Amino acid sequence: MPIRPSLSITPPADTTATVADCLFCKIIRGEIPAKVIYQTETVTVFEDIAPQAPVHLLIIANQHTPSHLKTDDASIYQALLSTAKTVAQAMQLEDYRLIINNGAGAGQSVFHLHLHLLAGRSLQWPPG
Ligand code: AMP
Repeated sequence: MPIRPSLSITPPADTTATVADCLFCKIIRGEIPAKVIYQTETVTVFEDIAPQAPVHLLIIANQHTPSHLKTDDASIYQALLSTAKTVAQAMQLEDYRLIINNGAGAGQSVFHLHLHLLAGRSLQWPPG
């Protein structure tokens, strides 16, 4: 897709969290408690602490990467999306929504790339 030469991209406000102080890295390492429902050497899936739907899971790569914009590793995207399907099938979910918030202005509050999986209620479009 062509991008206008004049287009300037502003970096997200806070992408400085390191592996040591990243909240989600601490969950992966078990340093902060979380309801982890699935974990492999590559990915971790846990319940969101402030669920926005009866099912609200966060799917993250174990490798720290701050955001969608900051990630070029296609294997991470493959892992996140295929894990979402694995979990959805295991939970017998047929209707669900996957969301990535990129940047503080889009609602990103934790700068470790993550996929939200929402299900269990009627989901409106467009999202707020
Ligand atoms: P986002 O706003 O897209 O960056 O999503 C971050 C999500 O992480 C939010 O939905 C938070 O509710 C969730 N969250 C923050 N802290 C924790 C935690 N300790 N355990 C589980 N989920 C968390």
